[in-house]
Amino acid sequence: MSAQDILVLAEVNQDAVADITFELLGGARELAGATGGQVVAVLLGHDVAKHAESLSAADRLIVIDDEQLADFSPAPYLAVLESLVGSEGPRAVLAGSTTIGLDVAPMLGAKLNAPVVNACQQVAVEGDLLKITAAICGGKVLAEVEVSASPAVLLILPGSFRPTEETGAATVESRPSPVELHRGAVTFEKMILPAPGDVDITQQDVLVAVGRGIQQEDNMKVAEELAAVLGGELAASRPIIDQGWLPTTRQVGKSGMIVKPKCFIALGVSGAPEHVEGMKDSELIIAVNTDPGAPIFDVADYGVVADLLDVAPALTEAIK
Ligand SMILES: Cc1cc2nc3c(=O)[nH]c(=O)nc-3n(C[C@H](O)[C@H](O)[C@H](O)COP(=O)(O)OP(=O)(O)OC[C@H]3O[C@@H](n4cnc5c(N)ncnc54)[C@H](O)[C@@H]3O)c2cc1C
Repeated sequence: MSAQDILVLAEVNQDAVADITFELLGGARELAGATGGQVVAVLLGHDVAKHAESLSAADRLIVIDDEQLADFSPAPYLAVLESLVGSEGPRAVLAGSTTIGLDVAPMLGAKLNAPVVNACQQVAVEGDLLKITAAICGGKVLAEVEVSASPAVLLILPGSFRPTEETGAATVESRPSPVELHRGAVTFEKMILPAPGDVDITQQDVLVAVGRGIQQEDNMKVAEELAAVLGGELAASRPIIDQGWLPTTRQVGKSGMIVKPKCFIALGVSGAPEHVEGMKDSELIIAVNTDPGAPIFDVADYGVVADLLDVAPALTEAIK
């Protein structure tokens, strides 16, 4: 390991390497090209060596297999990473700005007295500096950050780097945990999966998202009919989920799903930063809102200032 290496924290979800990991490997490859170091992926878990081939785009892959790492919980992950990053001494550690990354990376930075930058969208190497663009305040503000300290701990927003499509010949180093692991105060209890039979909104081409502007549950049918004629599915902002009008699996945003459909139709959604964070990368965004000043129009490709209860049924009829 050299002080110019880029260390990637790999993530496995439901027995598959998570998409963010391939994005981190793609970004790490670019950074390592600029620093002259290697890409070192770290895979923590139990019975995870089978994923090594998927991570072969790294130059080195360190696999730490331990029962205490079977399901993510912060204390054992932190203990292993603190030891590994301490001994490997990379230039930067890349983790996803994901549930796991957000849980463990800030604590890692604190333990190592290393700078932590969250929500990184771009990272470049300029001499001794890492120059970073980070999306703060839920993406409303882009901060330009320069980091000279090494290692830096960077949390990368999903969708920021092109995922690596390479397969390589990573040297796989399977090791026992470098430290004795114990259950921490926070432990994994259970994975809550989408309700059986419910759709995965991240996989849909067309989403019709309903916001508080729908006003009452009876009105949901106008959105359902529009989604049906478009061959799409319903999604929603958080208040609709809080009302219990749709299951939590349909929530778009910071505390819901990140979606990138071909077409996203927002009906009566104001466009709060926490919502926009989950849908701004949709290919085509159409917003219907009675308020011409609604922030949703800042991210929409097409906007209709009108009552959704007039527009949605008219659109449905026209499409029929
Ligand atoms: C930590 C945190 C996490 C959060 N996570 C999420 C998240 O993941 N997802 C999320 O969505 N929110 C999230 N929120 C909530 C977020 O801040 C907003 O409160 C929420 O997105 C607002 O939902 P809305 O746009 O449906 O409602 P509102 O903001 O009330 O907007 C309703 C809109 O409907 C329009 N309208 C009213 N009547 C009509 C009509 N007849 N026709 C057309 N338009 C009409 C109004 O002009 C208004 O713009 C989070 C908040 C916090 C603090």
